[in-house]
Amino acid sequence: MDFTPNPDHEAIREGVQRVCSKYPDLYWRQKDEDHEFPWDFYDDMAAGGWVGIAIPEEFGGGGQGITEASIVLEEVAGSGAAMNGCSSIHLSMFGMEPVRKYGSPELVNLILPGVAAGRLHTAFGVTEPDAGTDTTSIKTRAVRDGDEYVVTGAKVWTTKAPYCDYCLLLVRTTPKELCDGPTQGMTLLLVDLKDPAVDITPIPKLGRNAVVSCEVRYDGLRVPVSMRVGDEGEGFRYILDGLNPERILIASEALGIGKAALRKAVAYANNREIFGRRIGQNQGLAFPLADSHA
Ligand SMILES: Cc1cc2nc3c(=O)[nH]c(=O)nc-3n(C[C@H](O)[C@H](O)[C@H](O)COP(=O)(O)OP(=O)(O)OC[C@H]3O[C@@H](n4cnc5c(N)ncnc54)[C@H](O)[C@@H]3O)c2cc1C
Repeated sequence: MDFTPNPDHEAIREGVQRVCSKYPDLYWRQKDEDHEFPWDFYDDMAAGGWVGIAIPEEFGGGGQGITEASIVLEEVAGSGAAMNGCSSIHLSMFGMEPVRKYGSPELVNLILPGVAAGRLHTAFGVTEPDAGTDTTSIKTRAVRDGDEYVVTGAKVWTTKAPYCDYCLLLVRTTPKELCDGPTQGMTLLLVDLKDPAVDITPIPKLGRNAVVSCEVRYDGLRVPVSMRVGDEGEGFRYILDGLNPERILIASEALGIGKAALRKAVAYANNREIFGRRIGQNQGLAFPLADSHA
C-alpha cells in the first residue's frame, strides 16, 4: 500500500472537518440524550456529497472508493460525533453495493440516485436473535406465491429502521437442510419497511442513542419478485459485497474515535492541575501522551 499523503484525500478530510465543525460535542450529547436522529447533520453531509461519495457518478454520487469513504467516516468519528454521527450515514455509503452489483437496472435506478442524494434511507436486515455471526442459521423465510414472495420472521439490530424506506433483507428461500451447503438457499430482497405487515420496535441500548436499532418483525409481508436482488439462492454471496466494505468503514470509525479520545485526554492533561502542577507533567501520564505524538 502507498501511504504517501494524497492531496485529494487531504481535501476530503478538510471538507468533512468543515461540516463537522458546526456540530460540537454538546450537539451530540443532546441528540444522544434525546434519542433524536441528527437530521441537520445528516442533511449537511448529504448536501456536501459526502453521503453519496462511493456511489457511481452516473447515479449522482461521487464515484470514489472504499479509501475515500473510510476517510469521511474517520473524520466524522474524529470530530467527536463518534458512532452517533457515523451510524447516521454509514449504511448509505456502501450498504447498497449488492444492489449496484447484482440488482436489475430498475432496482439500481430505484435505489442509488436517492441514496446518493441523501433523500432515500435504507436499512440492512441480516442479524436475527439466534443468527449474528452464524448468518447461515437465519430463520426468516420467503415463500414464493405467484409473482410475490411472502416473508415471515424477525430480525434484530436493524439500524435506522423507523426512518428507512427500504431494507435489504436476507431471507431463506430454501431450508438449510435441503441445500448442498449452508451458504446456499438464501436470497436478498428489497422490502418496503412502511408496509403494515412490518412491525418495528426500538431496542434499548447503552449508547449511540441518536441512531436507533430495532427489532423488525415481518408477518406475511408480500414482496414482488421484481424486488429480488439478483438470483434466488445467491443472497449470501451478494451480501458479502456489503458486509466486507462495512467492516472496513467500521474500523475507520474506531480509528476516528480513538483520535478524538486522545485529543480530549491530551487537552485535559494539559489543563488539569493538582498538587500545584498539571497532571500531564507527571511521568506516568506524560509517557503515553508523548507516545501519542510519535
Ligand atoms: C449497535 C448495533 C447496530 C447493528 N446494526 C445492524 C444492522 O443494521 N443490521 C443487521 O443485520 N445487524 C446489525 N447489527 C448486528 C451485528 O451485525 C451483529 O451483532 C453481529 O453480526 C454479531 O452477531 P451477534 O451479536 O449475534 O454475536 P454472536 O454471533 O453471538 O457472537 C458473539 C461473539 O462471539 C464471537 N464468535 C462467534 N463465533 C466465533 C468463533 N467460531 N470463533 C471465535 N469467535 C467467535 C463473535 O465474533 C462475537 O464477538 C448491529 C449490532 C449493533 C450492536
